[in-house]
Amino acid sequence: MKDIGYYKGKTARQNVEEALVSAKRHEDYHALLSLTEDRALERADMVDSGQLTGRLAGVPFIAKDNFLTLGGPTTAASKILENFEAPLQATAIERLEAEGAICIGKANLDSFAHGSSTENSAFGPTKNAVDPEKVAGGSSGGSAVSVALDIVPFALGTDTGGSIRQPASFNGVVGVKPTYGMISRFGVVAMASSTDVIGCFAHTAADAQLVTAIMAGSDPKDMTTLPDYFEPSKDMQSKKLKIGLIGDFMTDDTDEGVRRNVKEYVERLKTVGHDVQTVSLPMAKYSLAIYYIVVPAEVASNLARYDGVRYGVRHEGAKTLDDLYGLSRDDGFVTESKRRIMIGNYVLSSGYFDAYYLKAQQARQLLINQFDALFESYDILLSPVTPTTAFGFGENTDDPMKMYLSDAMTVGVSLAGLPALSVPAGVSDGLPVGIQLIAPRQEDARLFDLASSMESSS
Ligand code: GLN
Repeated sequence: MKDIGYYKGKTARQNVEEALVSAKRHEDYHALLSLTEDRALERADMVDSGQLTGRLAGVPFIAKDNFLTLGGPTTAASKILENFEAPLQATAIERLEAEGAICIGKANLDSFAHGSSTENSAFGPTKNAVDPEKVAGGSSGGSAVSVALDIVPFALGTDTGGSIRQPASFNGVVGVKPTYGMISRFGVVAMASSTDVIGCFAHTAADAQLVTAIMAGSDPKDMTTLPDYFEPSKDMQSKKLKIGLIGDFMTDDTDEGVRRNVKEYVERLKTVGHDVQTVSLPMAKYSLAIYYIVVPAEVASNLARYDGVRYGVRHEGAKTLDDLYGLSRDDGFVTESKRRIMIGNYVLSSGYFDAYYLKAQQARQLLINQFDALFESYDILLSPVTPTTAFGFGENTDDPMKMYLSDAMTVGVSLAGLPALSVPAGVSDGLPVGIQLIAPRQEDARLFDLASSMESSS
């Protein structure tokens, strides 16, 4: 395993060249959509000549292809942005670069981050790092696989309903979904504005924490960012925590092998002195229903800007303005994105707004209240990340409802804006299983402390 420390002893050029060779050697997995080779090598030389220093000097990384970056295209794995070259970089990328990190390429994703397997990419799916017959998970599948294959020590993703946590779990790496508002989203292609967050994948909680700390903090370019609060702590490591295992996610609907690994992790938590009890979150069973009303509504609004006029692919031969919009959008979006645009506009329409959108927002508040009530008695909540391990290609593609179930345990956390980590916790039939650790808003540090202490106790 090549963690960030592995890259410290060598020149930046050696690091970048090694990462590029590895990316090309693993091309078959289709984890990457493009390499930013020239820019990466230029930056490596700046580090080696001492012009560029910092906590990540010379460390290569990969960004999901919905982060605006210089040196190559930013496509969001969609045809509509296939030729889009960003004029600026996302704040998260800028902050990593200011610490000397080097972006070597862009990772595959479900188009516009809509999906749970990376099969919705307009450019073909990504293979799972552990078993290439299985899906990578999604939507940040390419980023998770890039870390799991040791191409880079960390990669960036976005998580709207589980898109970092679920692929982290499917590929056996750590995935971070921070508190809503902790990291600037400026320069990242928007999916659903009330739940979108930026996070990362890494091999260890310590590496993930370092990368998170560098990206965190308020940004005048993103008015939804919180005031700076993230102080990675050390003193929690020895504290005995009260942990609630969400019993609603440990029923027969969850694979036996997944439950077994979760129970073993719980036993390890108890062995080191934590108090773990089963708790109930009755609103959890409605979280997918809430999510698939609120999120499409926001998706429909955010995708309205892609009209074939200002940027993106334009359909040639349209005779009227309506045709130009309609045909460009028809060419440019994948089926799943079109489904969400249709559902979103439907639930926002004047006849249905009260019945669907408003109702969903009310139910969302009840879910938030239940999480908050549990955090009055528990420091951390715990659950599986997903009900199954990585599934086969095509297994869930003809039934969107089956695909959506993959996020049953992650979307509630997103609707409530809570921070969560996905940490590797063993295997079932040779495939990785992940544990989801959830904390109250702005208590992200607590999660890293617990995950680190559990890594060192295993
Ligand atoms: N899989 C979920 C969805 O399709 C989550 C996506 C995400 O977090 N970007 O909406």
